Amino acid sequence: MKMTTLRDKQGGENGAIGKVLLAVVAALAVAGAWLYFDEQAAANLKKDAKLKAMEVIGDLAANNLAGGSSDGESTHGSAVDMIKLPIEVRKVTDNVFYATGVANTVMVATDAGNIVFDSGLVIQAAKQLRLLKEEVSDEPVKYVILSHSHADHVGGAQLWLEQGTEIVAHREFAEELRYLNELQPYLYGRNRTLFPWMPEQPGSIALLEYDAIEPTITVDDGDVYAFTLGGVEFQVIAAPGAEGADNVVLWLPQQKVLITGDFFGPQFPQFPNIFTMRGEKVRKPVEYVASLDRLIALGADIIVPGHLGPTIGTAEIRAGMLRIRDAVQYVHDETVAGMNAGQSVYQLMKEIKLPPHLDLVQNHGRVDWAVKSIWEYYATWFHFDSTTELYPVPAREVYADLAEAAGPEALHSLAHHYLQQDEPVKALHILEVALAGDPQDQSALLLREQALLRLMAQAEAGTRNDYEIYWLKYRLADTRARRLARP
Ligand SMILES: [Zn+2]
Repeated sequence: MKMTTLRDKQGGENGAIGKVLLAVVAALAVAGAWLYFDEQAAANLKKDAKLKAMEVIGDLAANNLAGGSSDGESTHGSAVDMIKLPIEVRKVTDNVFYATGVANTVMVATDAGNIVFDSGLVIQAAKQLRLLKEEVSDEPVKYVILSHSHADHVGGAQLWLEQGTEIVAHREFAEELRYLNELQPYLYGRNRTLFPWMPEQPGSIALLEYDAIEPTITVDDGDVYAFTLGGVEFQVIAAPGAEGADNVVLWLPQQKVLITGDFFGPQFPQFPNIFTMRGEKVRKPVEYVASLDRLIALGADIIVPGHLGPTIGTAEIRAGMLRIRDAVQYVHDETVAGMNAGQSVYQLMKEIKLPPHLDLVQNHGRVDWAVKSIWEYYATWFHFDSTTELYPVPAREVYADLAEAAGPEALHSLAHHYLQQDEPVKALHILEVALAGDPQDQSALLLREQALLRLMAQAEAGTRNDYEIYWLKYRLADTRARRLARP
């Protein structure tokens, strides 16, 4: 199927924003209610007034974020740029539309009522809802289908609910929501470290508590929930293993449209994010491959993702899915083979590379981190390497002793040597020892800055992985602050 106009419209947006999207998506995935809302102002309003109020408050919050700290040093641009994307309705086919934003809200219109797939970010949901109702259809919403429990996909779910609206999600949706909520302080802290433009504290908005979302229909692994509405056939397909255990996708067999949430990540195709730096549960590559096999068999003409615009073209979609599937399978199989051959996880992280015919961009997920995740997913944390691994006494506890024994000059010269040899990670190991001896050691801090800059240059010239770059930026800022803080 060919829809060149849509592709043209999306192409520039994807190019400009794609690389910076990943970080903001990651942050928003857990930080659902992090806005400066006046809870009292929003409380006790009737639904229409509530929606209007939310739209105004949402605009203010978005402006607040967009006008916040800019990210001038990053070659990837600013993560807050995503929030500046206009919220507009786009047409995919005669009955499939989506409202843009940080995350898309998709509407499928039928003569017997509408289907909504995902509900956007909480501060954008009211506007997405209004535009879809005004420009597409104001018929009753019969089903709200939620691709997974991340906040940028369920933020506006409550707003769409009417009398009798069914909420369809994966059977694991409630459990994923539970653990993300239970670990919210931990996840928020990590996200804010990586994305310092986020507010210091998450806000709280009773109006928008999304942990109250209770699916009325659930789909289990291996299952499909199929229904027909207004003559349009729908299949909600469980697709675990991508961005969590609770992923579902929506398949429209008559239109050959596949609405995917975050199953493929924000770009298509790309190496999937099996490991999240913010520290969610590990994602299961074997499940992901099995889910991909089910989706490949559908023969989709169009993919409508949770972020950015559609991918169009049967052959291109099939080729992309096959490549992702085979790449994940390859990394999995090589990791298992290496484990069985007695290789260490570090050897495997260095050695396993995608062969040229499976090459994929790694700015979201990356191969070496997937290797480590697969290794630890199977083998957990005891690497059979050192007795000390078994006890709560890390090597770091004796670093200060080592620093005293070696003396700062020897450590500086060793770190300098490793930098000369283009071994910045080895230099960082040495500097961790030196800084354990004296946290204000100016030479060590300067060398650490150089090592981090070297890693940053390598990252920019290599995979350009967003999470690696955000982490390095955080460490660089921390190192500089410690140098400047010298009394
Ligand atoms: Zn998302």
